[in-house]
Amino acid sequence: MGNRSRGGFGLLIAVAIALFSLFRYFGSSQVNEVTGEKQRVGNVTPEQEIALGLQAEPQITQQYGGESSDPRLRGIVESVGQRVVAQSEASKTPYRYEFHLLADDKTVNAFALPGGQIFITQALLRQLKSEAQVAGVLGHEVAHVVARHGAEHIAKQELTQGLTGAAVMATYDPNNPSSRGSAAVIAAVGQLVNLKYGREDELESDRLGVRFMSESGYDPRAMIRVMEVLKAAGGGGRQPEFFASHPNPENRIGKIKEAIAKEFPDGVPGNLQP
Ligand SMILES: [Zn+2]
Repeated sequence: MGNRSRGGFGLLIAVAIALFSLFRYFGSSQVNEVTGEKQRVGNVTPEQEIALGLQAEPQITQQYGGESSDPRLRGIVESVGQRVVAQSEASKTPYRYEFHLLADDKTVNAFALPGGQIFITQALLRQLKSEAQVAGVLGHEVAHVVARHGAEHIAKQELTQGLTGAAVMATYDPNNPSSRGSAAVIAAVGQLVNLKYGREDELESDRLGVRFMSESGYDPRAMIRVMEVLKAAGGGGRQPEFFASHPNPENRIGKIKEAIAKEFPDGVPGNLQP
């Protein structure tokens, strides 16, 4: 008897938690000021994104052999990255942008954490032939931060965890209401390391990257060169983030050309840095 009534009460609570999770996720869409798009970031704030990124940064840097020991190359990455941020719409965001050149000479890759921690490997930097190409890669990564793709990912996870939590609520300690939240944060930081965005997120970052690099005075056609370089480099082995969910690089180049034509309907001006 006692067990049955407790079971019924538990079920009621579980349903309430599931509904709360769904409501929080679907009831909290907001418009991104830079991209103009509606997005679901749950209750993830920019301050939390910055904190998560800073928390995960040392772990990720270590995974790629630490920071590069070449001060000249590190300086190029830092100055190009900060120019792309300072002279574009990305400067209107609350994020704290830091650009890391990773010592890894074998993995051709670049990626971003929520909140503004941005990484490029020496292996990728060596393949690039101009500052504008570096700006193309970093602009794409800045776009992931601005469009809050990481926050969307975390919000989706919080939804999943809310629903799972409804099933395993016995582990929740009512005397310590923060116990669930802190576990969710730890899980989110763990996920950040292997964060993979969807195809639509990648195409959006290409479009925004084209915009940011153009606004900061770089010729956006350099982005097409970057894709060609990556196509040649991505022959086998591990897929770089840049290729994640893009099985067809030709298709991606086509979309980048469309974005450039939309940005400059009368042709790319001649005064941009190639
Ligand atoms: Zn990307």
